[in-house]
Amino acid sequence: MIIAIDGPAASGKGTLAKRIADHFGFHCLDTGLLYRAVARDVVRAGFRGDDTWAAVAYARGLDPATLDDQALRGAAAGDAASVVAKIPEVRRALLAYQRAFSRREPGAVLDGRDIGTVVCPDADAKIFVTATPEIRAERRFLELKSRGDASPYDKVLAMIRERDARDSGRADAPMKPADDAILLDTTELDIETAFDAAVGLILRKIGHRGALQTGKTG
Ligand code: C5P
Repeated sequence: MIIAIDGPAASGKGTLAKRIADHFGFHCLDTGLLYRAVARDVVRAGFRGDDTWAAVAYARGLDPATLDDQALRGAAAGDAASVVAKIPEVRRALLAYQRAFSRREPGAVLDGRDIGTVVCPDADAKIFVTATPEIRAERRFLELKSRGDASPYDKVLAMIRERDARDSGRADAPMKPADDAILLDTTELDIETAFDAAVGLILRKIGHRGALQTGKTG
């Protein structure tokens, strides 16, 4: 059973993916961490973040055991990730790991930008999580503030817009909903309501097959 959750930065897709995985007892992979880790390894080794050769080499040699790293969590790591994520060979190098993860039993939830379109086009359920740039910036602004980062709202909004443009404008695997994805707009939803809505959408999509397999009916 494969559940694909895609969407833009700060849409809430990561939190939703974890909650959904916990709910069904599935494995969960935040695929953004892979791109963040490649960017981290490139810069740590002394290369520029946009050095294609280094990015491809570090993507090919990425050790998934290093994904549990606090340094990967911040906004700067996300921006650096979106630079290496534009490189087709980097994306190709990370594909096998993601696909192998998606086949883990009893099921897997993967969240990212291209899960429903490229990584797992045959996923059992696909959700594309959206929210307006303004509300995503507000959520990110409050999250940063709670961590002692006083970045002004306007700057956070500008960064969100810039990342959206880079992720949806790239030639290879641009961020976009798969044709068969269900859109979940969280602009006016809190996390609990969004989670309930997502579980409802998934159960409707996978029906009895999923309920029987996971033992959960919502
Ligand atoms: O989801 P997160 O914000 O951690 O992703 C960081 C960056 O990694 C994204 O802005 C995007 O450029 C890239 N990414 C991607 N494909 C994915 C996941 C993330 O291109 N499946």
